[in-house]
Amino acid sequence: MSPPRPFEPGWRADPRGAFDLDRTATGAGTVPVRIGDRTHRVYRNANFSVYSAQTCNARCPFCVEELRPLSRGLELLDQRRVEPDDGRYFARLEAALDAVTPVDPSVSITGGEPSIDPRLPGIVDLLARRGARKRTMTTNASGLLRPLPGGGDVLDRVLAAGLEHLNISRAHPDFAINQRIMGVDGPIPDAGLAEVARRCADAGVRVRLSCALLTGRIDDLDGCLRYLEQAAAWGVEDVIFRQLMRYDPATVQRNHITRYSDRHRASMRPILEAIHPSDGAPGHDRFTFVRQVLGYYYYVEVYRFAGPRGPMRVCFEGADLADVQRDAERRAQPVVHELVFHPDTTLSSTWQPWDGILL
Ligand code: SF4
Repeated sequence: MSPPRPFEPGWRADPRGAFDLDRTATGAGTVPVRIGDRTHRVYRNANFSVYSAQTCNARCPFCVEELRPLSRGLELLDQRRVEPDDGRYFARLEAALDAVTPVDPSVSITGGEPSIDPRLPGIVDLLARRGARKRTMTTNASGLLRPLPGGGDVLDRVLAAGLEHLNISRAHPDFAINQRIMGVDGPIPDAGLAEVARRCADAGVRVRLSCALLTGRIDDLDGCLRYLEQAAAWGVEDVIFRQLMRYDPATVQRNHITRYSDRHRASMRPILEAIHPSDGAPGHDRFTFVRQVLGYYYYVEVYRFAGPRGPMRVCFEGADLADVQRDAERRAQPVVHELVFHPDTTLSSTWQPWDGILL
């Protein structure tokens, strides 16, 4: 195993300038993959996202699912098509997984809202049967404790499929405030969240809470510390704080999501400087730097945190959707950084089913 890389202040200051596919990216380099009659350069550490066809039952005013098409000038509804036939859907999911076997990608299920997707049990069963690597799911958790016909609940099926991580979106530790922000229909109560954390821990699955950094909500180090206290009380040892995504102002279609994002994007930089100053001055004594991760449009810092009930893992992530396009434009042969299986069963290298079609 290579020794841990020391902290690079320049990466924090300018992640785009520091990103180099062969030198600084986590997966270093690409793998040639033949799909149909074309050979693609696929990033060695690519992730395969199963993009659930289930419409989300929350109304986050900063919704990433909506922001992705907006950043390309389209509303989500303009690009949304769903394969209605279960048999065709699963056959094509299997074919897509076959096609990317040479990269052995990590696999995540995302949405939409997968926990209320009637196809979720079939999806997790298929991924488990195929031994897909590093399986994760991102959810607002609302459907996890819903009973399934035949016994048990959704969480039972998810845990039986052996996920590595369950990522739960939660914008605020206070239930009522979180509801005002996310507006989930049928939200999971706090006791339900604690139950999910306990059952996941028993099954060896890590729960990670994901908190958007929003001005007036969780927007500074004190807010993060309060959030971490509550996460620990629920039995969660892994938290990621996300700065709202940036996008290219020249291509974006503006609507309430972009207006909210621009108004409420709290910068993670002052929080990082308080935890681990760039100039080498002593940082916050409960945080220990672990590593930095450079992606083609995202940047992450990982810390160990001395939590009230033991060590916790805390990450901070910033992303700029404009870098997705910049990366595609500056290469003669575009690199496939991610693999997205869309609700209409298209496998593409982007979050748009009409762009970067692979299968
Ligand atoms: S839970 Fe996720 S997909 Fe649903 S509205 Fe919020 S950000 Fe969008």
